[in-house]
Formats: sequence, structure tokens, C-alpha cells
Amino acid sequence: MEGGVSLSEIHTKKDTLYGLELLRYVNLEISKGTLERVIPIVCSFNENSDFMLECLNKGAADYLLKPIRPEVAKTIFLHVHRTYTSPSRSTEYPRSIIRRFSNLEDRLDEIFTKDKWLTNTIIQYYTPSLSPLDIPNFPRLNSASEIERTNILKKKLTDWEFDSHKLSEDDLMRCVVIIFEHAMELDELRELSISTDALHRFLLAIRQAYHDSNPYHNFTHAVDVLQAIFFFLCEMRLLPSLFSAGYNRRGKSSNKQRCRPNDLLRDSDVFALLLASIGHDVGHPGVNNDFLIQSQTPLAQLYNDKSVLESFHVMTLFNLMQKYGFKIYESEPPCETKYSEFRKIVVNAILATDMQLHHKYVKDIKEQKSRFESVDFNPSQKLEEEKNIIIGALIKCADISNTARPYHIAKSWSNVLLQEFTCQGDLERKLGLPVGPVNDGRVSQPDSQIGFIDFCAMPLFKSVSELIPEIGFTLNYLEVNRKTWSDKKETEGDNCSLRHNSSSGNNSEYYLFIYLVS
Ligand SMILES: [Zn+2]
Repeated sequence: MEGGVSLSEIHTKKDTLYGLELLRYVNLEISKGTLERVIPIVCSFNENSDFMLECLNKGAADYLLKPIRPEVAKTIFLHVHRTYTSPSRSTEYPRSIIRRFSNLEDRLDEIFTKDKWLTNTIIQYYTPSLSPLDIPNFPRLNSASEIERTNILKKKLTDWEFDSHKLSEDDLMRCVVIIFEHAMELDELRELSISTDALHRFLLAIRQAYHDSNPYHNFTHAVDVLQAIFFFLCEMRLLPSLFSAGYNRRGKSSNKQRCRPNDLLRDSDVFALLLASIGHDVGHPGVNNDFLIQSQTPLAQLYNDKSVLESFHVMTLFNLMQKYGFKIYESEPPCETKYSEFRKIVVNAILATDMQLHHKYVKDIKEQKSRFESVDFNPSQKLEEEKNIIIGALIKCADISNTARPYHIAKSWSNVLLQEFTCQGDLERKLGLPVGPVNDGRVSQPDSQIGFIDFCAMPLFKSVSELIPEIGFTLNYLEVNRKTWSDKKETEGDNCSLRHNSSSGNNSEYYLFIYLVS
């Protein structure tokens, strides 16, 4: 300690890049205000003048050659004086930033570093901490010991009675790998030659980023949605069946429709849908958008109260892809256009799962159906928009498909959803926020399910079935389930607080059921 100045030497590896990285990090912390009254001075054995200048450009106040002689050390305090009396301190920006902005590359570096820091901080805060991924021990599905189990799971995956609640954690993961490895065999994706290890690493990271503690929005729900979308795509013959070698890319055709959704989707769109399905709720905190907005969480503020969770899921999914080297298309030339198209599809698919936009999507789907019947309609004019409506329709159906599964499966999903809402109700009470009627049990389970089928599920599945006849099989399940819930309501007694068929024009029940799944 001399003259109020404290000297600290930071020892690092000898690698010069590491030294510059450290300098960049220190300067970033200074610019954010995390490090106060720190002046970085580089001390090194490196006598290369280019390196010395680079250090100064990266924000070092000075460069001293090692070993440092005592008489040089005595003058280091002069740097402190120079820095704190410099005219640049009168501006609102730290001196280091202004100097580095003189170089465009450094400025970009600064922007990207801050961006990365922000993304990582948000994701670390909201997702479970990722433990090291156990890739070497991950089962190869074609190994002798796995074949029998793989075949059993393949049969389950091709059945609409698929019940992910009945599967072990390992089997859930096997199902995901079966579907993705199968999709990788599509012509357009085979060309990308993505390694099995990269795929497994990424999928394991996705699994870890879901909160197991959520009764509903957990990895089991993600696998359920993935299987539903996989089932739809196989029905539409956009994916071959798991048990057939070849397939014809054709689907059922409705008489009047001149243009068919099946004809507009390419292999990369199919893969984007699968990816969006497994990642559409990644990192979900177990409370809905309303809760995040009402309690004014930083996440809600970040996204200005609009599709808060969905925006967060998209960001987390792409962050994991980047972090674990899962590259579908390079984000640089010559593949940048393909990458940006692919990214748009995934982003739009996940944003479409925001239930606040539910009725807008139902309207869009109906209008698309009319356009597709028109004689002079040319889909290539607005191909991207038309594709987004189809993709949105499919993932929305998959996201709430549990209401259209056989009743015993639909009921188990309804049970865990109510559990999650009850937990949210406890938090709302604790924070002094208004507690929703579904969150404190004021609405009976049969009533909430009947309302959800009437106001959300049936209008969606009906309009999608008209556009895509292959989805039509779900309508029968919905009708049976509605009747079963209705019978249950009668046998258990009418203790619900909501009146249906209200002629008052009050649409409060509409909002109530929108609140159910988001
Ligand atoms: Zn979901």
C-alpha cells in the first residue's frame, strides 16, 4: 500500500489470448460499474509491440515489462492520478469504453459480450443449474441391449394412447432420441450430417433445463407435446412411420381444397416443429404469464408483458443449441438464409403457444382454409405467412392435445395442471395478489375441463381439422371427454361457481379458461 493505492497482481495462464480475455472481462466489469476504482495495467514478459498496443486498445492504462523493477513500481500511482483527473471522466461513459469504441471490432466485441452476459444471467437465474452431461453412458438405441426396449417405445410412440406419465425418466429420454434420430433421416437433414453425440448432448441439456418440481410444465409435458406433433406429422405423411422403410409424401385430400398444408412444409420445417415442441416450455418457472406480469418480475419487464414466458423459452432453446454446438444450419454464409428461415419457424411456433393469442390463431386458421379453397389463390406469394399459420395450428393442437387423449390420460393431465395452479394460488396469496378462481379451487375440475374444451380446444381442433383432415380423429376424443366430464359433474353434484350458456354477455368465463394453460 502506497499513497492510498493498492496493487494487485492477477496471475493467469501464459496464453496471451487468455490475458487479453481477462483484460476485456475486467474492462467490461468496470464499464458496468461492478468493479469500482480499478485501473488495469498489464504486466507481461511479452515484448511484442503489436501485443502491447493491443493491450492499450483493449483498455489497459499501461503496459509494464516483467520483471518489474522497484523504481517503476513506485511510479504506478501516477496512472491513478492520470485516470482520475482525465477530462474524459467528466463524460457519462467510462474512459475504457470510449477508447475501445475507436475500434469497430472492439465495439462489436463489447456489444456481443454484454448480450451474452445478459442472456446467460437470465437463463442461469430461471433454469435449474446444469450438471455435467453424461454423454459416454447415454444408450445407443441400436445397441443389442437396447433394441428390445427401443421397439416397445417405438410402438408406444405410434399410438395416440401414448401416456408419458407412465414412462420412467430414461424412457422419456429414449422416446425423444428415437423421434429426433428418425427425423434426422429426412433427406434435407441427412445432408447436414449432425453427429449423434451433438444431438444427444443437446437433448440432455434440454431435459436438464426443465424444472422437475413443476407438476405440469416439466419434461414429461414436453415429451407429450413432442409425441403429439410427431403423431400428426406421421398422419400427414410428412414423416415416415417408425416401422416403414419408405413413404409417399401424400396425405388425405379434402375435395374442395386446392392447396394443401402438407405441400407447403419442407423437411426443415418438420424438424423445426419437432425442435419447437421439445423446447416450447424449457425453463418454465411453474407460474403463468399473468403471475409474472402481476408481480412485476424482471422477466415480464424485459419482454414488456408480451408473451413473456414464450419469449424466454425461445431464447433459452437457442442458447442451449449454441452452447452445446447443436448447429442445424451455420449462422454464417453460405447457410445464413437457411438458418434465419429455420430460426423464424421455430420462434413463431413457440410464440404461437401463448394462449392469449389463441382466438387470433383460430381466426387465422379459418381464413387460411377459405383462401386455400379459392381458385386464384397462389400460396407462394405469401409463403412464409401461410407456413407460420400451419405451423402455429399444429403446435397449438399438440400443446393442448392432452385434453383430446383418451379420458384416463386426459384426466391425469388435468390433475397435475390443477396442482400447478393451486401452487400458484398459494404464491398469489402470499404476495397479496388476486387469486384466480381456478387457483383456489372455486371452480370444480369437471367445470374447468368442460369450459376449456368448449372455449379453447374444440374451436381450435375443429378449425384445424377442416384445414388438415388428418387431425380430425381428435374431435371424437374431445366429444367423449366432454361427455365424461359432464357425467362426472352430475354424479359429483354441481358445486361449481360458473354458469355456462350465460346470456348476460359477460365473457368472464372466456378469460378464466384462457387462464388455464399458458
Ligand atoms: Zn406447453
